[in-house]
Amino acid sequence: MKLLYITAFLLVSRVASADVCQLKISATDQMRFEQQTLQVDSQCTEVEVTLHNSGKLPANIMGHNWVLTKTGDVASVANAGMGAGLANNYQKPGDKRIVASTPIIGGGESSTVRFPITQLQAGTSYTYFCSAPGHFSIMKGRFVYNGASANAVAKNEAK
Ligand code: ZN
Repeated sequence: MKLLYITAFLLVSRVASADVCQLKISATDQMRFEQQTLQVDSQCTEVEVTLHNSGKLPANIMGHNWVLTKTGDVASVANAGMGAGLANNYQKPGDKRIVASTPIIGGGESSTVRFPITQLQAGTSYTYFCSAPGHFSIMKGRFVYNGASANAVAKNEAK
């Protein structure tokens, strides 16, 4: 009976200490992400991404955000976001293709987004990018979950 109790306690404490995998990424006035790849694994129950804009320019001049989609959706989501304008953080309102995103932030600011790992599908290729107009062609990187295809971004660039 005592053993059963301990086992139950261990199960509960395991759930309670569920892993929030914290990732950090910086964006610069040179229109670059300093990290080309972010990686999470199936031990994460939630993913927390903090974007820091290490530049000095304001959001309306050189603002950046962090938007995560399937690799194949990057261009269409970025183009839809361009029309949405800065007031919508260059994201089309209600765009279901966006897995997770931060608002546009200016120099010196940070923003954090947290989402459950269940938002991601194993074996799918994901890419993060900045949806400010004209940025996504160079401001993007590979978001690796459970060894999703490592070549997807490169293939996309070759198009
Ligand atoms: Zn940007």
